[in-house]
Amino acid sequence: MPLIGDDRKMAYWKQRTVSRRVSCTGVGLHSGAPVNLTLAPAPADAGITFVRMDLGVEIPARHDLVVDTRLSTSIAAGAARVSTIEHVMSALLGMGIDNCRVEVDGPEIPIMDGSAAPFVCLVNEAGAREQRAGKRFVLITAPVEVREGDKLARLEPADGFSVKFTADFEHPLITDQGFEVTVNDRTFEREVARARTFCFRKDVEHMQSMGLALGGSLENAIVLEEFSIMNPEGLRFPDEFARHKVLDAIGDLALLGLPVLGALTAVKSGHALNQALVKRVLSDPTCHRVVQASEETASDRARAPVGLAAAGQQTI
Ligand SMILES: [Zn+2]
Repeated sequence: MPLIGDDRKMAYWKQRTVSRRVSCTGVGLHSGAPVNLTLAPAPADAGITFVRMDLGVEIPARHDLVVDTRLSTSIAAGAARVSTIEHVMSALLGMGIDNCRVEVDGPEIPIMDGSAAPFVCLVNEAGAREQRAGKRFVLITAPVEVREGDKLARLEPADGFSVKFTADFEHPLITDQGFEVTVNDRTFEREVARARTFCFRKDVEHMQSMGLALGGSLENAIVLEEFSIMNPEGLRFPDEFARHKVLDAIGDLALLGLPVLGALTAVKSGHALNQALVKRVLSDPTCHRVVQASEETASDRARAPVGLAAAGQQTI
């Protein structure tokens, strides 16, 4: 559906997939079991699809297949489930990959180091290949928001994709911590991808007593005690917590099925509220529409900088 003549600034370039198959191995955060993950090329307009190789089931990364947002984001097709998809989703969207098969041989994406950096490394190792079709987006045309108590997730029209997150936990290290970024592959890799997930020691002990977070360790999460962190290496960024919440929000918004052109403002949001925003957007045709770069225009822009920030640099 080529869209030409809009008076908005638009991104015009081609869809991308990974150039070849690339793999890594890690453990599932909750099961503690080893998992092999492979990123594989996918055709234009295929989007992101998770594949349970052990079951032979494909699960498209779509909002209507989300079945759980309590500790991480999980999707399922029938009895086949994949959990903790948000970090690899964030890496694919952040690195401008539109189409990819994410093959796993177990029910969880490997947690790796708790960040998206290992998946960014995989994308870089494979390289990105441009495809013939113009890139498609969900263009936000009017403000849309969801609230729950003092939590907020709001999208507004913008030229590119930006995220502004305010994290505020009852902990001295995460009080009113904000981070803001205009997302493209360079800023994602440099500013966002390396931020690790975090948890509180008391919650870890509770989860492990229930048989969860069995793969969790100081190797794949920042663990907070009452006034400090337990990780001997310290933080990767002073505001690593807020940056990780940005990473999660990017991965959650990727379940729109397409990259978004809009400005996200989030306050104390999490997977559940982020998914509520995704559903609100897609259920309200007055706040968004799907747009696609035409093949000719995408071709013209083939040498344009790759990444969502380029959206702000191209005017029709
Ligand atoms: Zn996370």
